[in-house]
Amino acid sequence: MNNEKIIKDLKSLNETFWINDKIQNNQNIELSIKDIKEAERRLKRFSDYIKVAFPETEKNGGIIESDLIKIDLMKKSIEKFTDQEIYGELYLKCDNALPISGSIKARGGIYEVLKFAEDLAIDKNFLDKNMDYSVFNTEKFKKLFSKYTIAVGSTGNLGLSIGIIGSKLGFKVVVHMSADAKKWKKDLLRSKGVKVKEYKSDYSKAVEKGRKEAKKDKKTYFVDDENSKTLFLGYSVAALRLKRQLKEKKIKVDKENPLFVYLPCGVGGAPGGIGFGLKSVFKENVHFFFAEPTHSPSMLLGLLTGKHEKISVNDIGINNITKADGLAVSRPSGFVGSVVENIISGCFTISDENLFRFLKLLKDSENIDLEPSALAGFLGPVKIFSSKSAKEYIEKNLIDISKINHIVWATGGSMVPKKERKKYYQIASKL
Ligand SMILES: *Cc1c(COP(=O)(O)O)cnc(C)c1O
Repeated sequence: MNNEKIIKDLKSLNETFWINDKIQNNQNIELSIKDIKEAERRLKRFSDYIKVAFPETEKNGGIIESDLIKIDLMKKSIEKFTDQEIYGELYLKCDNALPISGSIKARGGIYEVLKFAEDLAIDKNFLDKNMDYSVFNTEKFKKLFSKYTIAVGSTGNLGLSIGIIGSKLGFKVVVHMSADAKKWKKDLLRSKGVKVKEYKSDYSKAVEKGRKEAKKDKKTYFVDDENSKTLFLGYSVAALRLKRQLKEKKIKVDKENPLFVYLPCGVGGAPGGIGFGLKSVFKENVHFFFAEPTHSPSMLLGLLTGKHEKISVNDIGINNITKADGLAVSRPSGFVGSVVENIISGCFTISDENLFRFLKLLKDSENIDLEPSALAGFLGPVKIFSSKSAKEYIEKNLIDISKINHIVWATGGSMVPKKERKKYYQIASKL
């Protein structure tokens, strides 16, 4: 399909499936598996601190990780609802239940704050890397960190992650929230002493304002969701962890048994970091796809046109208004776009209505509660067998469809208050 046809599809707000014809499987980035492993080692050093600061992580040794589960009941429900058979097996990666902040942002966001704290502590001669990192939980460290501010722009979940870990370590935290951010997230942050600045504009503006304000103060560290390699590497560690989980479950990943992964995408950092990590680990045997709302297909547009952060969905007349608040991003990360442009298999869009339909199907079949953004990946295993371009991709790669293991990445939901959950379910029930 040519680009014009796809852009016309996007403009009409139809669900669109796009296959990346620039895929080459070799990575055009200076980062490598070495950097991912270094990030994993840093998280390991911090596990002694995480365990004491967040006791709910003790049973997992202070490692922030989520389960991989098989969801046969959901698979049946989707097949019935869409009238499309899903060949192969269907799994859910439960980042909705990640400890500390209940979303995928608990990977990258927390990692970047920990790295900043470690660098600072070493620089001030408070720490050497062989120490027991539970020292980060002492007054001495908190007093040091209280002189510094961490700032971030967010649609909600990144702010939540940075706010929770930052304030726990003793930092001052400022979160610049876009108009989409949910009130309960702002309330929760304020209850932890975080300063929340609200904007009437969308995510890109909130980030811009935050970045500008942070520049004025030498003791403010800005977590730059659009450009940060540290954040990106924090996310990428998921791939090493997933490799172990697959091995434990005796799920093979090789030429005959390909892995198809579907990741909800906002600005691109979380799915990009994870996709990059997966390619570093599984090479051509993994195929990853990004999922975006029909009203916010920013990464798809950036990749398709090659314009990355230089194009916004507004430029083609799309409004970026969606109930998937975590994905409400009009302009993608240029950094992530240029990293994934020759390793990503494709992108697709999903309507808000279908996000809610999947929300109800998942609740009714598996009793799992997700926030709307987190359901975007579920359309992937349907479209991969029904869209023309996906079928061609499968043929071209000589894939035996019965051997595919599909992983839908669930990106948030466990912190959503009961009342909000009920509202989501009600919306879905009326469709
Ligand atoms: C942030 C977020 C994403 C996407 O991550 P990006 O780094 O913005 O692409 C997906 N799902 C949820 C629930 C999120 O909060």
